[in-house]
Amino acid sequence: MTEKGVWNGQEGLRTVDPEVYRTILAEAEREKNSLVMIASENYASRAVIEAQANVMTNKYAEGYPGARYYGGCEFVDRVERLAIDRVKRLFGSEHANVQPHSGSQANMAVYLSFLKPGDTILGMELSHGGHLTHGSPVSFSGKFFKPLFYRLDPETQRIDYDEVRSLARRHRPGMIVAGASAYPRLIDFSIFAEIARETGAYLMADMAHIAGLVAVGLHPSPVGHADFITSTNHKTLRGPRGGFILSREEYAEKLDKGVFPGTQGGPLMHIIAAKAVAFGEALGHEFADYQKQVLVNAATLANEILSHGFDLVSGGTDNHLILMDLTRKGITGLEAERILGKAGIVANKNTVPYDKQGPRVTSGLRLGTPALTTRGLKEAEIRLVARLIRDLLENPESEETLKRARGLVSELCDSFPIY
Ligand SMILES: *Cc1c(COP(=O)(O)O)cnc(C)c1O
Repeated sequence: MTEKGVWNGQEGLRTVDPEVYRTILAEAEREKNSLVMIASENYASRAVIEAQANVMTNKYAEGYPGARYYGGCEFVDRVERLAIDRVKRLFGSEHANVQPHSGSQANMAVYLSFLKPGDTILGMELSHGGHLTHGSPVSFSGKFFKPLFYRLDPETQRIDYDEVRSLARRHRPGMIVAGASAYPRLIDFSIFAEIARETGAYLMADMAHIAGLVAVGLHPSPVGHADFITSTNHKTLRGPRGGFILSREEYAEKLDKGVFPGTQGGPLMHIIAAKAVAFGEALGHEFADYQKQVLVNAATLANEILSHGFDLVSGGTDNHLILMDLTRKGITGLEAERILGKAGIVANKNTVPYDKQGPRVTSGLRLGTPALTTRGLKEAEIRLVARLIRDLLENPESEETLKRARGLVSELCDSFPIY
């Protein structure tokens, strides 16, 4: 990155469209000067970002490598094959589709390929940590299909597998979805698989959040358990924005048809090039070290926050995120998000299980370590950040606390540059 924060080679953009150029610059500055603790965000490598800005955006490539509906696909075929081979190797899967434009579209393709409109989907309730595409009424998943939800155990705040089993037995869903956006504990895909087998449902594992951990064996893999595995590329996996699907060979043809022509037209070949780069990076040795540090940092964050007298959903974490329950502290998730934001710590409000506040206010705050770990922060800095969070949340009106926090955030950002 140049000192201004935009890649070399973007001189054309500066001349042709200074307005957009300046706006990108401003975003680069924002990213540089804030501590991102949004659990679903990360910093793609320079190589990944460079790979996205290429001429493959010009190419129509409907179909799949070797079987396209357009001529001139020899090089995009090569890059898509690279992406497919690498992601299959990374997760040890028989089949992969790297064309979904996003995680949501990956889920849509699976549902539309293997369910009929009106069939039942059993997923984790949104307010307990699930995702919109797991049956929420505001998403296609809850409009075209009949949603049914499992919730977390009110005591342990962990998945209640007995409830999943009894709901599945009673309602016979077409698809069971195992996966979450705000769940700090391990997910046992083998129990889900057992329940799906017993009740005649398909099992879809949505590993969007944990894909990076799964890739290096730090979270049990859904491969071998789930019929379909969907994911995003851009969370712990640290790739470009986008999605992919894994499955056994027996589902390959139907699944591929579900992506194209089922739910998408031409694939974004420039993004697929960047996916190939990211999968390549994830196959390298350093990636496992990175994921280990993500976990160490999250565990450190959890312990520190607990030691400062805050509550965590489920009492801790096994993965890359924690979910603070602020109910006892008398502040809402919305307030907490604003207070931290003023100091340059970017996080997001989040419902906690059985939240008394609505989704726009919430009683929780979700904090993740993937982005900070990419910047190079380790335990000592994470402890410092945890103290800042405590100080800010306990003294929301104090100008002095805010000023001190801003200073420390800015020092950390300078000491740990992104690119
Ligand atoms: C982020 C996420 C998605 C959706 O990804 P998009 O690329 O934003 O559409 C799907 N499922 C889960 C569990 C997620 O966390």
